[in-house]
Amino acid sequence: MNSRRDFLKTASLSTMGGMFFGASSFGSLSGLRSDETPLQTTKPGRMNLSWKPYDLALRHVFTLAGSSRTSTQGIQVEIELDGVVGYGEASMPPYLGESKASVIEFLSRVDLSTFKSPFELEDILNYVDGITENNTAAKASIDIALHDLVGKLIGQPWHKIWGLDKEKAPSTMFTIGIDTPEVVKTKTQEASHFNILKVKLGRNDKSDREMIESVRAVSNQPIAVDANQGWKDKFYALDMVEWLHEQGVVLVEQPMSKKQHDDIAWITERSSLPIMADESLQRLSDVPKLHGIFSGVNIKLMKCTGMREAWKILNLARALQMKVMVGCMTETSCAISAAAQLSPAVDWADLDGNLLIANDIYDGVKVVDGKLQLNDRPGLGIVPLNKN
Ligand code: MG
Repeated sequence: MNSRRDFLKTASLSTMGGMFFGASSFGSLSGLRSDETPLQTTKPGRMNLSWKPYDLALRHVFTLAGSSRTSTQGIQVEIELDGVVGYGEASMPPYLGESKASVIEFLSRVDLSTFKSPFELEDILNYVDGITENNTAAKASIDIALHDLVGKLIGQPWHKIWGLDKEKAPSTMFTIGIDTPEVVKTKTQEASHFNILKVKLGRNDKSDREMIESVRAVSNQPIAVDANQGWKDKFYALDMVEWLHEQGVVLVEQPMSKKQHDDIAWITERSSLPIMADESLQRLSDVPKLHGIFSGVNIKLMKCTGMREAWKILNLARALQMKVMVGCMTETSCAISAAAQLSPAVDWADLDGNLLIANDIYDGVKVVDGKLQLNDRPGLGIVPLNKN
């Protein structure tokens, strides 16, 4: 309890006390209160939203086709109802245009007082989505916390609520960033317990081939390649795809810019490998536009506003006979465990964001023999570390 009070105090100080919002009377769930002593700051029957900034420290410098960084800005969120706490998170890699300041400003505008129950997910999340046009990570933090709360009130994990068999959770990819051949070899050897690697390409031809050859010098693991929009010419890109196929690569993500969909459609039509949309996919409404251009989509909670829309994207993509992958940003085990809830339904999972940080604050989904291992705890299946 002390830790939780500290959390709220921190949030209160950092946001000048403006984070609590009351809901109207909510008596029907009073029997579901936890045994915890109600907080001084909490009024019974009200959803209370609070947050605190929490930057994620990367274990290694992370290099993509366009940038390098050593930390990622983050905000941790709680929605509490009668002593039951749902945890959420916003992660803001710099290229997505959100920051701690923009997320805090967004959260300050969220007023849950008109909603009687967290079970009104559709109405609450439509309201949250309507507050601004963008701010997808901020919206995701609310969505994730609400899902955790609802799962805890029901007493079931989301994979079960969605009707998924946790034994079908796939292996997760482990990311090898762009680096020198020696570093790539070392990182690949350290990742020998993963069943599939994700290798970042898209800088230039020499670097790309060197990356793959360095991995192959020490490993036969299947590889997923992410070009992060780095290739500029469709003929070159198709040649690379075919060469990668020969190197044991199983898929290629975002070979060219999201502004070059005609070229990507041309590649997909001819490619031996599935071509997956990442930067080209943000929201549910993008999925029909990508049908016929890409083989499939890479869903990330921070792009699509959270678990509810992720589930809708997954089902729409399946209806269009597209492949589905679930990915992540640098995130704690909170958002990673949230995304992992739908992993039994996807073709590939790339959920290593929590493994790439040095300061995780939750115990949640695990990786055992390279495979995602979901637990039976309710909600997201997470427990805060150092909180009892
Ligand atoms: Mg990607």
